[in-house]
Amino acid sequence: MGSIANPSTWARDNEPSHPIQKVDYPKASSAPVPTEGTEIRQIISDLLHSFNDILSRKEFVKLPEVLNTESSYWKDHIGITETKFTTLTGAARITEFIHENGCLIKSIAADKDPKSASIDPAGTVKCLQSFITFDSEIGTGRGLVNIIRDVDDGDKWKIYTLYTFLYDLHGVSERDVLGENRALYTRPDNFPKEKNWKDYVEEKKRFVDDEPAVLIVGAGHCGLMAAARLEMLGVKCLIIDIQKRGGDMWRNRYHNLCLHDPCWMNKMPYFPYPANWPSFASKDQIAGFLEYYVTALNLNLWNQTSIISSTWNAEVAHWTVVLENRSTGSPVRTTHHPRHLVQATGLNGAPRMPNFQGVSDFQGKIYHSSEFAGATPQHAGKKVIVVGAGNSGHDIAYHAHQHGAKVTMVQRSETYVVGHTTMIDAFKSRYNEQTHTEDADIIFAAMPISVTNRIGHDVGLMFYRQDLPLLESLQKAGFKVVTPPEYISPCFKYPNHPADQLSLATSLPSLVVLTQTRAGGFYVDIGCSPLIASGEIKMHQGRNISHLSATSMVFDDGSEVEADEIILATGFVGVKVHTRKTFGDQVADSIDTIWGIDEEGEQRGVFKRYCSNFSFLFSDSLVGI
Ligand SMILES: Cc1cc2nc3c(=O)[nH]c(=O)nc-3n(C[C@H](O)[C@H](O)[C@H](O)COP(=O)(O)OP(=O)(O)OC[C@H]3O[C@@H](n4cnc5c(N)ncnc54)[C@H](O)[C@@H]3O)c2cc1C
Repeated sequence: MGSIANPSTWARDNEPSHPIQKVDYPKASSAPVPTEGTEIRQIISDLLHSFNDILSRKEFVKLPEVLNTESSYWKDHIGITETKFTTLTGAARITEFIHENGCLIKSIAADKDPKSASIDPAGTVKCLQSFITFDSEIGTGRGLVNIIRDVDDGDKWKIYTLYTFLYDLHGVSERDVLGENRALYTRPDNFPKEKNWKDYVEEKKRFVDDEPAVLIVGAGHCGLMAAARLEMLGVKCLIIDIQKRGGDMWRNRYHNLCLHDPCWMNKMPYFPYPANWPSFASKDQIAGFLEYYVTALNLNLWNQTSIISSTWNAEVAHWTVVLENRSTGSPVRTTHHPRHLVQATGLNGAPRMPNFQGVSDFQGKIYHSSEFAGATPQHAGKKVIVVGAGNSGHDIAYHAHQHGAKVTMVQRSETYVVGHTTMIDAFKSRYNEQTHTEDADIIFAAMPISVTNRIGHDVGLMFYRQDLPLLESLQKAGFKVVTPPEYISPCFKYPNHPADQLSLATSLPSLVVLTQTRAGGFYVDIGCSPLIASGEIKMHQGRNISHLSATSMVFDDGSEVEADEIILATGFVGVKVHTRKTFGDQVADSIDTIWGIDEEGEQRGVFKRYCSNFSFLFSDSLVGI
């Protein structure tokens, strides 16, 4: 067990993100693009056939013949090799990597939905797109291919982006237990006849004379989804959580909380949300669903359980983990030997507490947003300061105001604000009632982050145009929003103006990439922005907090805001502090910083198996990503 989770290790556990490589769209060809399904499938299949030929003959030097000359990407999650997540940029790098590492993938085929589409939101660079399946030496996989006409090679169709991920292992497929292949009974054949399903489930869950192959720490969306996938493959999993009941991490959040993203983005595998749920489910619906998900899928969850110690035994390639289960009142310690550990404790580390003087002088309440249980009628007439202008800060300010508090929001730097409807409209083209969430996820994951970032600039500009009245009213009220510097340039006012399109576009951040790099810095407006714009919620912007007096917050320009309660919506440090505390220094020092961007330009630290010394994996994501 780790000895420390203190500020002295925070710097190395929160290394700054690598920069995102700035890329532009590939050159657009003026040659025609087919629209008819059969022809599109044929073109994609022919190209994949050439690709497969090169792989099967191991003539890797010929790979550039099927890859777009100017720019091409192969994003792979354990398809090419058994262990690596990698994003290869450019024909030369792809060829070099395959040459050095070989390629487990034997052949790729076009799957469902071949169609014509475009790489950029404006529809300038046309592409043909298809889901793909592949067969590898160890299993089968899925993915997506986007092919474009290569302007530098006679307008031939070439691969622009290829995304591959391993789905099943040969001989071990979730399809063996799903749908038509479902078992006749849940109990195994050799289970005593006098015992029923409930007896079976309870015995299975206790792991008496049995070992979990995987121990998952954390029973939120990520932990439960990982366990569900593994159980379908017949891998025995034990999930532990410190909470009292399944779903408590949502149940115990503030009273009025609803999801900010529509339900299609947050769907879990094998078991959909009820069809009559609202698009934006409440925290208690989500909590109840997560609790029942465990029962419905027969997962092995131990609540009120934590890790006492964990040691990797290299000779036998398994962990020795001591758990303490407090669910029956008195603590019970047990020892287990899983081969893999998965940390799924959420994205947030310790609350980030600003360090200002006079906290002990302040006579009111001061606390971090993670402790905000919801505003109550007792807030009526109270002077509340919310420090921080991201999603949490806005939600808290809104709820306190709804209960009659006099709220002031303190904002240090600018915030990316997007209207709820604007965001929903944009996401609805991808995540919606008709599209299978897994397919939407594949399309989303298929793009390298650098290309997503380029697309996001243009989407950001569209958002900005759509939300301009709201954003201008916020600025007038003293709230600082992210704006393009060329906001008043001709191209902003006249979208078809040809001048400076790229520099205009690249000056706006991508909302998706903001999430992937910072997991914060933005607000999707669900009601707070108009209250700020109208002055009902007051703003204090751009001044540093100097200190607290007994009854107020004092700023470095001498201004002062009175307060009965101060809520610090100042975010969290990176989650690696939990890794260090729960699994110890050896594990924490051996894994990447979690979240942000790695040296290949992709999401850092998550989902990768750290297998050089031991098998440890960090599983995390925002629900909808
Ligand atoms: C107020 C609020 C609103 C949000 N709204 C949205 C939204 O609308 N859409 C969205 O996509 N995301 C939203 N998020 C982010 C959301 O929390 C995550 O998307 C989602 O819950 C992540 O799931 P997870 O499984 O990674 O982590 P969590 O849901 O946080 O689950 C982690 C679990 O690990 C357990 N745990 C932690 N440490 C230990 C330990 N040492 N031992 C045992 N168990 C441990 C915790 O008890 C918890 O149950 C919101 C977050 C907050 C705080």
